[in-house]
Amino acid sequence: MSHPMIALVTGGNKGIGREIAAQLAELGHTVLIGARSVERGEKTAAELRAAGGDVTAVALDVTDPASASAAAETVRSRFGRLDALINNAGVSHQPGADFAGQLPRSADVDHVRHVFETNVFGVITVSSAFLPLLRNSDSPRIVNVSSSAGSLAAISDFANSDPIALGYVPSKTALTAVTMMYARDLASEKILVNAVCPGFVATDLNNHRGTGTPQDGARQAVAMATIGADGPTGTFTDVDGPVPW
Ligand code: NDP
Repeated sequence: MSHPMIALVTGGNKGIGREIAAQLAELGHTVLIGARSVERGEKTAAELRAAGGDVTAVALDVTDPASASAAAETVRSRFGRLDALINNAGVSHQPGADFAGQLPRSADVDHVRHVFETNVFGVITVSSAFLPLLRNSDSPRIVNVSSSAGSLAAISDFANSDPIALGYVPSKTALTAVTMMYARDLASEKILVNAVCPGFVATDLNNHRGTGTPQDGARQAVAMATIGADGPTGTFTDVDGPVPW
């Protein structure tokens, strides 16, 4: 997309989301940082504005439908539309859990539910709230930040990994499937919906064990957020191309 767009990045206050916001701003787009902590969102927005970007923060807890509705109303009153929704917010574990391997290997349903609330139901909540504004765009698109860890073919490789995977991995399997459902259902309205994998990136999500930088991790989400209106929909890609799911 060549002309400036209005883009919203959920969980944009840190990690990969912050870099997605920074790179979209560098391309000249107007960026809204969705953050469940207004203070953290404003701090990041101020940093990106200091770097020359048109970036503001909007309060958005993706697990709270009222918060999503309020955020959508804020965007509607300011801009009347949304061109790109980047569903980036995600969690790997419950707050306070030691996710270095201390959780029991048996199914802790509260843990799994917490992760799904954010990584799957949160995406549906936010997408539902913003679809009316995406429909007001002449080139609407949704990018869901999923993970190749959730690819069914890869799950066997994770059998002996951290117990957090019990929530996280299937949440990303579900998110990629949800992406495909949205892509199919919104194709007639020319709303492009794609999933991306950022790669294994050093962030708080994985105690900075990742090998890539947040800047690297942001690239594919930015690429899919800025594809032309005739671009693909219903894909799952990383910087190297299609990811089997
Ligand atoms: P971080 O933990 O650094 O950032 C996660 C972001 O999500 C934070 O801004 C966090 O906000 C936000 N968030 C969490 N819960 C909510 C909520 N309920 N409402 C709003 N925002 C919320 O992780 P990453 O940057 O690594 O993760 C970004 C995305 O990339 C995630 O979807 C993750 O699953 C995905 N991913 C990451 C990989 C990696 O290797 N890092 C690999 C594959 C996928 P707060 O600051 O308030 O906690």
